[in-house]
Amino acid sequence: MTTKPSGQTVFLAAVVAGSCVLVGYLLLFYNPARTAQSSVDNQSRLTLAEIPFNGQRAYEYLMDLCALGPRVSGSQGMHAQQKLLATHFQNLGGKVRFQKFRIRHPQTGKEVAMSNLIVEWQPQRRERVLLCAHYDTRPFPDKDTRNPRGAFVGANDGAIGTALLMELAHQMTSSKGKLGVDFVLFDGEEFILEEGRDPYFIGSEFFATAYANARPGTPRYRWGVLVDMVADADLQIYPDSRSMSWDDTRPVVEAIFDTAARLGVREFVAGRRYEVLDDHIKLHDIGKIPCCDIIDFKYPAWHTQDDTPANCSALSLAKVGWVLQEWLKQAVRQ
Ligand SMILES: [Zn+2]
Repeated sequence: MTTKPSGQTVFLAAVVAGSCVLVGYLLLFYNPARTAQSSVDNQSRLTLAEIPFNGQRAYEYLMDLCALGPRVSGSQGMHAQQKLLATHFQNLGGKVRFQKFRIRHPQTGKEVAMSNLIVEWQPQRRERVLLCAHYDTRPFPDKDTRNPRGAFVGANDGAIGTALLMELAHQMTSSKGKLGVDFVLFDGEEFILEEGRDPYFIGSEFFATAYANARPGTPRYRWGVLVDMVADADLQIYPDSRSMSWDDTRPVVEAIFDTAARLGVREFVAGRRYEVLDDHIKLHDIGKIPCCDIIDFKYPAWHTQDDTPANCSALSLAKVGWVLQEWLKQAVRQ
C-alpha cells in the first residue's frame, strides 16, 4: 500500500470474494472520505414503486430460498430448493431439466450428486442468450469471526441470482425476439470445505465442457450474463476487468452499463474496475461463450452468518433486475 501525492491511497489486494467467487484481484483508488461521497452520489433516487421489475416479489423469493436453510451441494436443503425451483419455473412456462453428474466428496471420498438446473424459454430458437447464477451455498461461513463453522444461508451469496431469475421468469413466455433464452443455475460454485484444496466452479466447468463438446447443430449462445451478489443496500457495480479484457464479451458489459445509464440506475459505475474470478471464466474459456459477470462483491456480510435477507435490499434487487430485463429485451432482438 502506498500513498499518492494527491492524497489518494492506492490499495492493491488479493480478494477472495465469492460469490462468489472469487478469488480476484482488486485494484482501486481508495480514500474513505471519497468513497463515502461517491457512495451517496451513486445512489439513484428511484423507489420500488417506480421500477417496473417487481423487487418486492423477488425479495420474497429470496426469503423462500433462505427459509430452506443451507443449500450446500448434495444436501437436503439443495434437494428441497431444486424441487421448489422446478415447480416455480414450470408453472411459469419454462422447460426445466437437470444436468446431473457426480463428484467425489473432497473429504470423505463418497459420491456427491450434483445438478445444474436449466430452464429453457423458446426452446425452438437455435441462437440463445444465457442468464446464469450459482444456487449452491458455501458449506461454512468461513469469514465469520464468531462462528466460522456455523450454518450459512447465503442470501446475497447464493440465493440472490436465483431470486432475480425467479422474478424475471414471469416475463419470459412473452419475450419477443429472434433469440431464445436459457436460465442456468450452477451447482458447486463454492463447495469449499477447505480453501486451497477444493475446486471452485464445478458446475459451470461441467456445463461449459458439455457445451464445448456438444454435437454440431446444438443451440449456441450469442451472449451470456452471470449475476452474483447484487443486493447490498449500498450497491455499486463496476465492470469486471476480466469480462472487459475479452474482445467478444466487452460489448455485453458495455450494453448493460449503457442500459443502466439510460434508465438512470447510477449504481452501475463505469470507470473503476475489479477483476473477479467466477463461473463466467469457465463459460468463456472452456465454452467460448461471451459471458460477463455482474457483481458487487463489496458486501460487509460476505461469507458470514450475517449474509441473510435482512442484509439484502429489495430496491437493489429491483434496480439490477430492471437493468437486465431491459438489456435482455434488446439482446434477444439481435
Ligand atoms: Zn461465496
